[in-house]
Order: sequence, then C-alpha cells, then structure tokens
Amino acid sequence: MTTPTRAAGLDALHEFVPHAGPDYRRDRNHDLGPARTNVSGLSPYLRHRLVTEQEVIDAVLSRHSLHAAEKFVQEVFWRTYWKGWLEQRPAVWRRYRADVSDLLAGDLPAHYEDVIAGRSGIDAMDAWVGELIETGYLHNHTRMWFASIWIFTLELPWQLGADFFYRHLLDGDAASNTLSWRWVAGLQTRGKTYLATTENIARYTDGRFAPTGLATEARGLDEEPFPASTPVPSDDVDGRPGERVGLLLHEEDLEAESLLSEHPSLAGSIRATAVTADPEQRSPAAVSAPVRAFTAGAVADAASRTTDASGRPATVLDSAAPSSVIEWAAAEGLDSIVVPYAPVGPVHERLEVLRASLGAEGVGLVTIRRRWDGRAWPYASRGFFPFRERIPGLIGQR
Ligand SMILES: Cc1cc2nc3c(=O)[nH]c(=O)nc-3n(C[C@H](O)[C@H](O)[C@H](O)COP(=O)(O)OP(=O)(O)OC[C@H]3O[C@@H](n4cnc5c(N)ncnc54)[C@H](O)[C@@H]3O)c2cc1C
Repeated sequence: MTTPTRAAGLDALHEFVPHAGPDYRRDRNHDLGPARTNVSGLSPYLRHRLVTEQEVIDAVLSRHSLHAAEKFVQEVFWRTYWKGWLEQRPAVWRRYRADVSDLLAGDLPAHYEDVIAGRSGIDAMDAWVGELIETGYLHNHTRMWFASIWIFTLELPWQLGADFFYRHLLDGDAASNTLSWRWVAGLQTRGKTYLATTENIARYTDGRFAPTGLATEARGLDEEPFPASTPVPSDDVDGRPGERVGLLLHEEDLEAESLLSEHPSLAGSIRATAVTADPEQRSPAAVSAPVRAFTAGAVADAASRTTDASGRPATVLDSAAPSSVIEWAAAEGLDSIVVPYAPVGPVHERLEVLRASLGAEGVGLVTIRRRWDGRAWPYASRGFFPFRERIPGLIGQR
C-alpha cells in the first residue's frame, strides 16, 4: 500500500536517489512485477505535490551529475511538459471530457465491461487490470502496452481507456494521462502510434507475459482540428489578496510551506487555512476506493502540516462544493482566499465555479502558481525535444 503522506513520499525519494543515475538509465523500462524497485514509485506523491518536482530534482542532483541522472530528470520533466502543453490547449481537455461523458451515456461496446473486469481473454491485459484495480499503479511501459492493446487489438475507444486509468491510478493526472493515451493513439504526434508486440512485452517483463494475437499494425486515429493554442500568462499571481486572507489547499498541490516560501509577504498574513479535494470529479463514473482513500489521506496529511500565521492547524472541509468554502470563509471572516494554481483539469474547473460563487459573496479568489510551472510551461508549446533542450537552464534557475 502506498502511504499518502509527505513523510512517506520523502522516504521513498531518499531510498530511490542512489538508483536514479546509471541504474535507472539501464533498468527503467523493465516491468518485473509489483515488487519493482527499478523506478521510483514517486508519481502519486508528485501528482498531489506531497513532494515537489523541485525537491525530487534537488535530491537526485545532490547525488548524481545531470549527465548521470539525465534520463530520470527528463522523466520528471515529461510531467511538467504535458501540463504546460495542455495548459496552452484547454480545448483538448474539454473535448476529451465531453467524449467520455457521451461514450459512458451511450451504448458501450459489448466487450468493454469484460475488459475492465479483467476478462479480455488476453492474459497480460487481465493481469494488468487486476494490478491497476488493486494497487492504483502500473509501470510506464505496461501503461504503453495496455493502451496500445486497448486501442489497436481490442479496438475500444481511447477515451474510455483513459477514463478507466484516470479512475484507478493514484497518480491519475489530467495532462499526463490524457496526452499519453493520445500519444499511443497517434493523435498527439500526428500519425505516430505505439504498437505493443509480443516480443517487446516478453523481453521487458522477463518472460512473465507473452500475449499472442496482438494487432500487427496501428493506424493513427483521426480527429477534428483544435483551435490555435493560447500562451501561458506570465504572472504567477492572479488576483490581489485583501486584508483578511485564507489559504485553501486542494488535491493539485498539498505542500503549503514551499509554495508560500515563494511569496513571503503573503505567508505572514494568512489568518486561516483549509484543505479540500474531490476525486470523484475525475470522471462521470465512480473512481476507485484506493484513489478515494489515497486522496483523503493526502488531504488529512496536508491539514496536519499546514497552519495559519498564529499556528492554528488547517480545517479539512467536508466537501469541495462552493457552499462549504463560503461557509468556512464566513466563519473566519475572510475577504479573500488564496489557492495554489490548478492546471487544466477538473480542479481548475471547480475553482472557476468557486470564483464566481465567492465573487457573489464579495470574497476574492487569488491563484498562486509555482515558479517551477511558470518558468517551464511556456516552453511546452511544441514537441518534447525542443522542450528537453531547456532542462539544464530550467534546473539552473531558482
Ligand atoms: C497511457 C499512459 C498513461 C499515463 N498516465 C499517467 C498519469 O495519469 N499520471 C502520471 O503521473 N503519469 C502517467 N503516465 C506516465 C508514467 O507512466 C508514470 O508517471 C510513471 O509510470 C510513474 O511511475 P514512477 O513514479 O515509478 O516513475 P519514474 O520512472 O520513477 O519517474 C519519476 C517521475 O517522473 C514522472 N514521469 C515519469 N514518466 C513520465 C511520463 N511518461 N509522463 C509524465 N510523467 C512521467 C512521474 O511524475 C514520475 O513519478 C502515463 C503513461 C502512459 C503511457
């Protein structure tokens, strides 16, 4: 079980740091089963920012040169890249959401329920479905094989596969998940698909799986074009805090100390703190019990680590609905609420609804974005390769 606390995330980081150099470069693509130690397993912590990208990179580079840990560092930046790319193309997210709702409300393909119940008849897929449902995690290479078999062998809609992952992954992330599925389907890099093969699966699972009968060609899917991309705003702070400021953390960012250290003038003026989350917003269908439990645990952990200027611990709000936040703001006499910026995804949508509801009560909503995101996202306007060239410069900056 993955423990949903910052302390557990930091333990996992420190345990992994010695392996983030040549070991990772050599072994990272192998999936030898749930007891794996060749990858970090840090994704649920990074996804909720119980541990930050900056901390992970700092810890790794205090032990290895950038050259030695290049592969690992690049993987962490894939996360940043996907988020920055989607940030500039919110229409891609909106269309995915609409497609999932339509598909789930319509006539589902006859074999969909069997596949997600682990009865596809392909032993590897059935084992991976079981591992995903039970642990909330799959290895990266396995996610690629899974998505490829889902789309090209089982011929199921990619959006339903992305939704299934999103409902079950502890690290389920609007950008990394949606865009990785699009990449496998040949939509992200137009015409370039990912085809899973028996040989590749057998080799990288050390012979644990060698499914036969897989599709032998993967023709890229097609879609209507999207509107032109929009640039990332340059300011990290959007809005002006008032006199009586509250801090509201959410599931996109649960580490107040490092966030506020980037805004020292704000840190001293916080008179109340609260934490809220709603993992059910990931999908119109139910999210898994492990995702709900991990998120609730992460929220409780964040509340225990977060205090206002007078040292009072944070309140865990019963619900993420605007009414619950408004009640808290009124009880604390707040005129403005600061929240970590939420990138494109369900939390962003929730905060936009909250902004309107708070505005009607005369309470302002102020978003603060981490420097890590503000600096890197503008470079995610094209492919990963030009973005990758920026990594040394991004790491050198503070
Ligand atoms: C179809 C598909 C769906 C995916 N969905 C998600 C998702 O919802 N959330 C998510 O965090 N990752 C997703 N990934 C990316 C990747 O599989 C996971 O981040 C990784 O397996 C997490 O394991 P780890 O922490 O041991 O990774 P490590 O190999 O130890 O990498 C360290 C960190 O780098 C980041 N990272 C690594 N690889 C990638 C990648 N390819 N893309 C983006 N970030 C990466 C993660 O934050 C990870 O914790 C998906 C990949 C595919 C192919």
